[in-house]
Amino acid sequence: MTRFLWLLARNQLALMGGIVLVLVVLVCVLVPVLPLRPPDVTNTADRFLAPFSDGHLLGTDHLGRDLLSRLLWGTRLSLAVGFVAAIAAATLGSAIGIVAGYFGGRTDNIIMRGVDMLMAFPYILLALAIVAALGPGLLNALIAVAAVNIPFFARNIRGITVGIAHKEFVDAARLAGKGHLAILTTEILPNVIPVIVIAMSTTIGWMILETAGLSFLGLGSQPPQADLGSMLGEARAALITNPHTSVVPGVMIFVIVISINLLGDGVRDALDPRLRSGALSRPRPATNVRRESVPQGPGEGVLDIRELETQFHVGKRIYRAVNRVSLTIAPGECLGLIGESGSGKSVTALSVMGLVASPPGVITGGAAFHEGRDLIGAPYRDLRRLRGDRVAYIFQDPLSTLHPLIRVGEQLAEAIRVHHKVPRAELRRRAVELLGAVRIPNAESRVDSYPHEMSGGMRQRVAIAMALANEPEVIIADEPTTALDVTVQAQVLSLLDDLRRERGVAILFITHDFGVVAQMCDRVAVMYGGRIVEEAATADILNAPAHPYTKRLMDCVPELGGGRRKLDAIPGLPPAVDKLPPGCAFAPRCDKVREACRAAPVAMTRAGGRAVRCLYPETDIAKDPA
Ligand code: ADP
Ligand code: MG
Repeated sequence: MTRFLWLLARNQLALMGGIVLVLVVLVCVLVPVLPLRPPDVTNTADRFLAPFSDGHLLGTDHLGRDLLSRLLWGTRLSLAVGFVAAIAAATLGSAIGIVAGYFGGRTDNIIMRGVDMLMAFPYILLALAIVAALGPGLLNALIAVAAVNIPFFARNIRGITVGIAHKEFVDAARLAGKGHLAILTTEILPNVIPVIVIAMSTTIGWMILETAGLSFLGLGSQPPQADLGSMLGEARAALITNPHTSVVPGVMIFVIVISINLLGDGVRDALDPRLRSGALSRPRPATNVRRESVPQGPGEGVLDIRELETQFHVGKRIYRAVNRVSLTIAPGECLGLIGESGSGKSVTALSVMGLVASPPGVITGGAAFHEGRDLIGAPYRDLRRLRGDRVAYIFQDPLSTLHPLIRVGEQLAEAIRVHHKVPRAELRRRAVELLGAVRIPNAESRVDSYPHEMSGGMRQRVAIAMALANEPEVIIADEPTTALDVTVQAQVLSLLDDLRRERGVAILFITHDFGVVAQMCDRVAVMYGGRIVEEAATADILNAPAHPYTKRLMDCVPELGGGRRKLDAIPGLPPAVDKLPPGCAFAPRCDKVREACRAAPVAMTRAGGRAVRCLYPETDIAKDPA
């Protein structure tokens, strides 16, 4: 809630609208106790007094009634009617929408066709017809305005509910034995309330206008009662001779509607869950870079990450997600990057191509050399040219990386077309070829499949094919098999391994599974709390891990034929990267920790191609390099 208010307050226009609205509402609430003249007392001697005349701050109308008093009483009435109409329309409309969306099928059909019928009439005509049937009067105008707005809410909320009603958490609630009413109120309603509030905040202004419109036509409030619409209606005859009688209520309507709409837009922006994660600012196309020192190139291998430092600046907090990480990948090599969830692996991978969302992400130091060029801070145009062409990514969840509405062949073709001009027929041939390369059977017919027609393993193959599409030098695979079951995982891994050997692509393979590393990687870097804590050839690490963290990680992996060894879990949790300890980040969970570990940052010790960041390693890498 405080976060919502904070977001709202950051939006200056919304804040202004909110302040004006609060002032207007406050005045309206205080009207009965303010020293105003009675609004309905006529005094024909004082007709059409100009504003600022004696005793009448805003002048008088055609019957000599005090305009200020009528304005405030009228505003009070108009606001009340508008709000009540909006709440009535929102409540009824949303209830209809939720029921229709949740039950679906025939219920949905009957309800929504009824709503469609209401929607088929022009708004104002429908309102007029309702008032004509019920008779003029403010209450009837309110009913009419609420009624014509019900379909708007019903349609909106039904759409949202249909999307939610088939989500897993609703099924789970059903399996837990919850009844329809309980599911509707505890599972569905909380999820649609933000949408209801948004829809309401953007329509209240409109409903106030509609009520004013009906009053203007003489169908709403009846004389001598004042509301903004009827004041305008009565002033119409004197529009030219005494414009102030129209201007006074006109300006008030304008101010109210504008301030409600500004506030409504702000509420929508602050409540919309899609806007919330980005704190209302669209991420930039490339991560912000603010480096103090820049390592000098040209770097080694196809990709040389040096002293990379990526942070998230959220409010006053600084999350050091990646802390001076250095990694080098040779052509055709597979480097494993392993660590628990949250250790900074993905952020490292994304930083290379400037893909970390900014804000809040900032690259504060280091470099990433690709063929001698530093990618960090490279102009966006250059980055775009390299993304997906020279350096490609494979992500964890193949369903969310593929577009659900486009055939996979088209998507493969698109990946190529972004970077190269290739004729249509050729594109299709290439797509088939790529699907064949990732061992999809019947590639010829599969190019025309949609992602949902494929299994998880096949979708991940398509994602790999997409990464291969432009024959990149480097593929960054971020937990590409985590979402797959074990047999499919084995197939995908052997596929990646074959591709690497056939095509000589270098792979940065991110995982949290030592079993996968053993199968895939030539070298491994172990990451913890945003830092590399150990790096060595795969065989060396598997034979003799040096860092206690590496050892503990390996103890978590079951060994086939490994006898009755107890599987270990590492006690405690990975550190929060905004509150890292001054010394070794693993110290709080380490069973070999000593005083010195906690005192100061631990430097990397290097020997014989191995490196470890530990004062008391499990294996002395200097003595026992292999
Ligand atoms: P993993 O090793 O599981 O891939 P990540 O690289 O995704 O871990 O995350 C590293 C750290 O960065 C985590 O501690 C995470 O909390 C933090 N982090 C990631 N994205 C953000 C963000 N947008 N704002 C703040 N912290 C973030
Ligand atoms: Mg990750």
